Amino acid sequence: MSGSHPVVLVVEDEESYVDALTVGLQREGFMVHVARDGRDGLALFERTQPDLVLLDVMLPGMSGVDVCRAIRASGAAVPIIMVTARTAEVDVVLGLELGADDYVSKPYRIRELVARMRAVLRRHGRPVGTQLADTLTVGDVRLDPERHEIRVRGEVVTVPLKEFELLELLMERSGRVVTRDAAIAYVWGDDYVGDTKTLDVHINRLRGRIEEDPAKPTRIITVRGVGYRYELPG
Ligand code: CA
Repeated sequence: MSGSHPVVLVVEDEESYVDALTVGLQREGFMVHVARDGRDGLALFERTQPDLVLLDVMLPGMSGVDVCRAIRASGAAVPIIMVTARTAEVDVVLGLELGADDYVSKPYRIRELVARMRAVLRRHGRPVGTQLADTLTVGDVRLDPERHEIRVRGEVVTVPLKEFELLELLMERSGRVVTRDAAIAYVWGDDYVGDTKTLDVHINRLRGRIEEDPAKPTRIITVRGVGYRYELPG
């Protein structure tokens, strides 16, 4: 099976979650396989023999409930965490006694999900993964997750936690668009309060810290109607 990097099968059809999960879980030392529907999920389960399955309940075609039943019917004891769209659904899914190990409701925070994944893996005596605390450097900005430190053009800049996590996600995906939903799922989950401006406020604060001219950003670029992109240096 796997060494220190647990293999996770993510069965999820929502693009914003797939994006945030892939980045977040890889960063936490997991190997990630993604299936976008139930049938593909079952096929990938057979092929990859994962250490853990993260299974969305509402999937196109074959539902997560049916996928869970099929996995259990095959005799596999793999840990399964079900993902429901609303807290109310948890009770319904619980009532079905599917043999899942845990349940989370959307929107969730990636870091909380990872903590629960590790708890389930530990209970099953499987590898729990180690955080990859590599520094990230893009252009003149360096981010050090272990020391929780950012250096901009060599100078240490203090950044609050949510801004740090937002910058981490953007820099991790440098050159590619991070959608608004993906950013919110990664940084806030259901802690996301107020209107949709909270994200923009954090982006503007980050620009104030790392851009030479925050009014004309050259690092954190707005992709209108979609999200943001961290620009790779030309
Ligand atoms: Ca879904």
